[in-house]
Amino acid sequence: MKLTDPVSKIRFVGKKYQKRLKNLDIETVSDLIHHYPTRYKDFSKISEISSLLAGEPATIKGEILEIKNIFTRRGKKLTKAIVADNSGTLLLVWFNQHYITNTIHQGDTFYFSGKLKNFSGQPAFLSPQYEKADSPAKHLTKDNQNYQSSNLVHTGRLVPIYPETSGVSSKWLRARIKAVFENLEQKPKDPLPKIIKEEYNILNLNKALKFIHFPNNQKEIKRARNRIAFEEMFWFQLQTLRKRRQWQKQKPAARIFLSAKQKEKIAKLIGSLPFKLTNAQKKCIAEIQKDMEKETPMNRLLQGDVGSGKTVVAVIAAYTVALAGKNTAYMAPTEILAKQVYRTFEKYLKPYDIKLSLQTGSSPQTAVRTPHTARRKQQKAEGGSPFADVIIGTHALLHRKEILKNLGLVIIDEQHRFGVKQRAKLLDSNNIKEKTPHSLTMTATPIPRSLALTSYGHLDISTIDELPPGVKPTKTWVVPEHKRSAGYKWIKRQLSTSSNQQSADLKNQAFFICPLIEESEHETLKDVKAVTTEFERLKAIFSEFEVGLLHGQMDSEEKEKTARNFRQGKIQVLVATPVVEVGVDIPQANIMVIEGAHRFGLAGLHQLRGRVGRSGQKSYCLLFTPKKGKTTRKRLKALEEHNSGLELAKIDLKMRGPGELYGAKQHGIPEFDFASLSNLDLIKTTRAAAQKIINEINNYPELKKYLNTKHIAPN
Ligand code: ADP
Ligand code: MG
Repeated sequence: MKLTDPVSKIRFVGKKYQKRLKNLDIETVSDLIHHYPTRYKDFSKISEISSLLAGEPATIKGEILEIKNIFTRRGKKLTKAIVADNSGTLLLVWFNQHYITNTIHQGDTFYFSGKLKNFSGQPAFLSPQYEKADSPAKHLTKDNQNYQSSNLVHTGRLVPIYPETSGVSSKWLRARIKAVFENLEQKPKDPLPKIIKEEYNILNLNKALKFIHFPNNQKEIKRARNRIAFEEMFWFQLQTLRKRRQWQKQKPAARIFLSAKQKEKIAKLIGSLPFKLTNAQKKCIAEIQKDMEKETPMNRLLQGDVGSGKTVVAVIAAYTVALAGKNTAYMAPTEILAKQVYRTFEKYLKPYDIKLSLQTGSSPQTAVRTPHTARRKQQKAEGGSPFADVIIGTHALLHRKEILKNLGLVIIDEQHRFGVKQRAKLLDSNNIKEKTPHSLTMTATPIPRSLALTSYGHLDISTIDELPPGVKPTKTWVVPEHKRSAGYKWIKRQLSTSSNQQSADLKNQAFFICPLIEESEHETLKDVKAVTTEFERLKAIFSEFEVGLLHGQMDSEEKEKTARNFRQGKIQVLVATPVVEVGVDIPQANIMVIEGAHRFGLAGLHQLRGRVGRSGQKSYCLLFTPKKGKTTRKRLKALEEHNSGLELAKIDLKMRGPGELYGAKQHGIPEFDFASLSNLDLIKTTRAAAQKIINEINNYPELKKYLNTKHIAPN
């Protein structure tokens, strides 16, 4: 039997089982031996019948004195047997398994594993596992003998329990896996390089497989799991590092060395801002400008809590690029955000003769402006035919290749909202093929160290770890259902007053966010219906106030009008879906109400509440959830106590895992069997190991091939 054979080659695996195994993603012999047990039952101790202790798992070996099938008075099928060893006898009982008498006969010697329980006042093993004692494995050859530390599979040992599916039990799997190892022509090839295994004291594959399926003791299980976890994380790290290397092989569309005069221009722009940059913002700008000088294009992730001021960093990056005669494309996740960003850029850059263009689904080409002639000449000379220095838009940008020319920088805002493919497309759309624009992605989702070293390991990360001065933490409560109406009352009182320092006419404002119903990045019709219903409900409750509705399916004029009315204080309560809302800058809003809060990750909730209290006023966040469970409450309560997005992300990572937190598939976080993103030691070790190998990857053709067949795609 070969590893590549389909499972149907295995004895007792017909069409029916082939189909069932497919539910477990097992199609080949190799898949089967890489189907790992999740736990083990410890039946390793073989005891004498007389020394059995009630309730403790144990195995006995004995001769069947008597076995019979019976029907109880109530018509239940029982099988009863008496087994004896040198120390005594024991009753065995099975339920609804009359076929057992076909296998176990009087006079046979068997192993039985179970726990001593009480059966009608008598000590007994109930439904014990059984295995014939005198049945050596049939096709033992020298090569596969080492899988056979013991011939026992189901009893008298650490018995593996596998992920099962309907019609495929652990017992069945154990028997098949054992048979496979007895009939394999060749040992599985170990893809891990020897020097890595030696340096990190990692088991070879063959041993690891033996230990994982047929362990002799707990230590073997541990070593096997360590090896598999190491391998899983090692592949992931190799992928990430290879991505990084591939990026680094590219030539930047522009290496930007600023002249003294240009530096002065940038300083002038910074000096004209209505606020002083925070030190964190300055540090990030410097990191970006340094990257732009390098031989390889920038690939940087700018991370900072909501309201930390990422936009202005992007403005300065774009200005830097414009001074070098190159264009910037800025992709925002929604139209409202694109417009908001456009307004910000306009405000800051217009006085400096930078041409902007807004490209959204609903703003056709007419919005594109022609750039300044002097620069246009320079750009033409470089082969481009630019329309504007900075092009801002939504994903609609992706379909406007003709305007994405002469790109020196691509900025992607709220990067987690875009899929891997969309991002690749934008970077790829630049028509100067042999040169790559610098890439700056921005996110308010905090990146814990474990992710920075894995999924995001191919990116350089800048962090704005400081909020603009004066911004206070948002007071947060998880509100139980029975306090809902009291909560509404409180909100009404708030809405009747003003916290605005400039103008007492501007009353307080509240967001009400409804969660998306389905697990999807995009709003569905169902979501729209839910948010509309909620809107009607709240309109009745808050009848004395102006209530507005905002969702993704509204036409863009309507959306823009609602957002504007909210910004100007004409609307006091805005009911919205999270898709529309994230990133919207409404400085005077101070109350954030979130329905179905359990549906969000903590970092997501933190981002949402980061939307209020932006102008230094007192702000509040009320979290509603119909869930009464302790874990949900505990998780949400973390928001009452913690005020750092990073801290909250860490807590969520622990409680829910990276998949829930970041949308695993979308972000190329693979599903591991044993590796874990909370194991920082493993992450660091495998990263070091991968770094060692990646530089000599060509010396490991097998490894390279293997790597290509692993479909992990970190973003
Ligand atoms: P985000 O990081 O969430 O994208 P924004 O760039 O939208 O944050 O900034 C949020 C608000 O903070 C904006 O109104 C912006 O003008 C303001 N802001 C940005 N930087 C500073 C600063 N250094 N000092 C004061 N206010 C700032
Ligand atoms: Mg932003």
